Amino acid sequence: MWRAGLPGGLRAVFEGSPLSSGGSPRLLEGKVALVTAGTDGIGLGVAEALGVAGAQVFLSSRRAHNVQRAVETLRGRGLQVSGVTCHVGRAEDREKMVQAALDTFGAIDILVSNAAVNPHFGPILEADESTWDKVFRVNVTAAAMLVRLVVPHMEKRGGGAIVLMSSIAGYQPMRGLGPYGVSKAALLGLVGALSPELRRSRVRVNGVAPGLVRSRFSAALWEDEAVREQALKELGADRLGAPAEVAQAVLFLVSPLASFVAGQTLVVAGGAWSRL
Ligand code: NAP
Repeated sequence: MWRAGLPGGLRAVFEGSPLSSGGSPRLLEGKVALVTAGTDGIGLGVAEALGVAGAQVFLSSRRAHNVQRAVETLRGRGLQVSGVTCHVGRAEDREKMVQAALDTFGAIDILVSNAAVNPHFGPILEADESTWDKVFRVNVTAAAMLVRLVVPHMEKRGGGAIVLMSSIAGYQPMRGLGPYGVSKAALLGLVGALSPELRRSRVRVNGVAPGLVRSRFSAALWEDEAVREQALKELGADRLGAPAEVAQAVLFLVSPLASFVAGQTLVVAGGAWSRL
C-alpha cells in the first residue's frame, strides 16, 4: 500500500480516505439503498447514480407502471434494482416498502427520502387546512416516519446514511409556493434535529436542497420562457439544473466520501441565494 511508505504525519492525512485506499471506485459496493419517488426526475437520477456506484437499489413511487418502467430501465443499464409501489403518506405503504426492500436485498444501509407534493399554487392565505395537512403529511411527517422505520435496520449493519430531499424554497420563499416552501424549511430543521440523535446509531443524516431542476414536478416554473426567466432571476441562478446534477450530490452525501458530514443540507442550485 503506497501510504505505508509515508512518514507518520503525512500518513495520517490520508487515513480513512476511500479515494486513496486503492480500493474500488464503486463507492457503494455491498450497500442497499432505498429511494422513494425513485421513478422519475431527481429520484430516478439518484437511483441510477447509486446503482452505478455499486449499490443494490430498491425504489418506489405510487404508480405500478412507473415503478416497472424505472426498474426495467435501470436493469437495462446492468444495475441491481428492484421496486414496489408506495405512497409515502400512507403508513401501511411505508411499512410494506421497507419489508419488501429487506425481503429483496436483505438489508437497508441508505435511505433517500425524496417524495413531495405541492397541491397548492397561490397565496398562503388561500391554502386551507387540508392543504397544509397534506403537504406536511407527505413532505415532512412521512420523512420522519421513514427514518424511524429504517434506523433499526441500519443499526444491525453498524450504521447507515440518510438524505432528506429539501428545496431552495426552504431557504428563500418562492411566490405561490408558500406551504410547500415551509414544509421544505421544516426538513432543514428535521435534518439538524435528527443528526445528533442518530449519532449513537452511526447513522449520518443530511439534506439536499435543489434549485430549479428540469422535471415534471417543476414544469410550471420552466416550460414557459418568461416564467422560467423570472423564476431564475428571483432565485439568483442562471440556468435550470438537471436531475443528474442533484443525484451526484446525493451520492456524495451517502458515500464514504462524506464520512465527516452530518446534520447539513447541501444546496445544489447553481449559485441561487440560500441563506436563512
Ligand atoms: P418529478 O420528476 O415530477 O418526480 C416525482 C416523483 O415522485 C415521481 O416518481 C412520482 O411517481 C413520485 N411521487 C409523487 N408523489 C408521491 C408520493 N406521495 N409517494 C411516493 N412517490 C410519489 O419530481 P422531482 O422534481 O424530481 O422532485 C423530487 C423531489 O425533489 C421532491 O421532493 C421535490 O420537492 C424536490 N425538488 C424538486 C425541484 C425541482 O425543481 N424539480 C426543486 C427542489 C426540490 P408516482 O406518480 O408514480 O408516484
